[in-house]
Amino acid sequence: MDSIIKRLNNGQNFIITSHVNPDGDNIGSSIAMTRFLRAMGKNAIHVLEDSVPENLSFLLEDYEIIGKASDIPQDFLAGEYDLIVLDSAEKNRVALPSGIADKAQKVLNIDHHISNTGFGDINYVCSDIGSSSEVVCNIIRAINESRIDSAIATALYTGISTDTGNFMFPSVTPNTFYTAAFLTQKGADRNKIANEVYRNISQSFRLLTKMALDTFQVRNSVGIMLMSLKMLEQSGVDYKDTDLLANVAVDTRGVEVGILVKERENKTYKISLRSKARVNVCEIAQQFDGGGHFHAAGCTIFGTAEEVIERLQLAAENQIKKDLSDD
Ligand code: 5GP
Ligand code: MN
Repeated sequence: MDSIIKRLNNGQNFIITSHVNPDGDNIGSSIAMTRFLRAMGKNAIHVLEDSVPENLSFLLEDYEIIGKASDIPQDFLAGEYDLIVLDSAEKNRVALPSGIADKAQKVLNIDHHISNTGFGDINYVCSDIGSSSEVVCNIIRAINESRIDSAIATALYTGISTDTGNFMFPSVTPNTFYTAAFLTQKGADRNKIANEVYRNISQSFRLLTKMALDTFQVRNSVGIMLMSLKMLEQSGVDYKDTDLLANVAVDTRGVEVGILVKERENKTYKISLRSKARVNVCEIAQQFDGGGHFHAAGCTIFGTAEEVIERLQLAAENQIKKDLSDD
């Protein structure tokens, strides 16, 4: 952590970004880092070339974020800056054109994915921690914890909550709760987070869930559900607002591996893999050039829905055999 801290303390200009298809941890950790650097008197620009899910938009109140890299001031890019990439396992998933990284003095890669490729000049990857927001909280506390205000605490708490399935996933440790308690003391607005993130689900999302559940099937401890473009169209839900569907399959009795197959375009499917306990779904995702964590991973597969589902079914059954026979 020392080299990251040194760089953050000594630098003056920073661009902060994260991965495409943003989620609570991505947004929470980035906002917290940006707000903290601004509070330390630095120039910190948060750039994210992707849209923020509806249930996380409350984090953007009274906050400046740039949605297109082309809107970063030219004089800023002409000077010296470091690029901080948060919560991103691979360079090619970063929501920013590569030129911005190429011109940075140093790329600081701060993450918690087992599959992180170490693409930064300085890498700080804690794969035993359940969220990048907890990692960022540790870094901030090591620098100057008095700078944590309620907005920073709320952003970090949101990221910790969403990446741990609201404190349910096996990645949760005693430290997760200590951190959450600390952030609550620092003013994290838990009621707002609960109401905005989890308890304000649109009726169109309920309709989408109903349609997707019609396709849900369980075979040999593998639960698979399909979300098609037609379902999105019929329900009126935006793709970016479909994250909460990913856990439905795994949260079912008798399911070890839950899979959500999301149609992106013709013959292209984005896959969300979830494990209940002992099966490593990151290894399944890696067979399809994806990655993630032991209990939550993703990848993209090409083919018809039937082909994609068959390939996933087989890969998941093999992984279950492998991991459960290790015991
Ligand atoms: P989700 O299912 O929520 O999209 O993703 C679960 C986890 O897997 C996240 O930590 C995410 O960063 C990771 N992940 C999802 N898709 C990909 C992918 O295509 N490649 C890699 N390397 N990781 C992914
Ligand atoms: Mn994360």
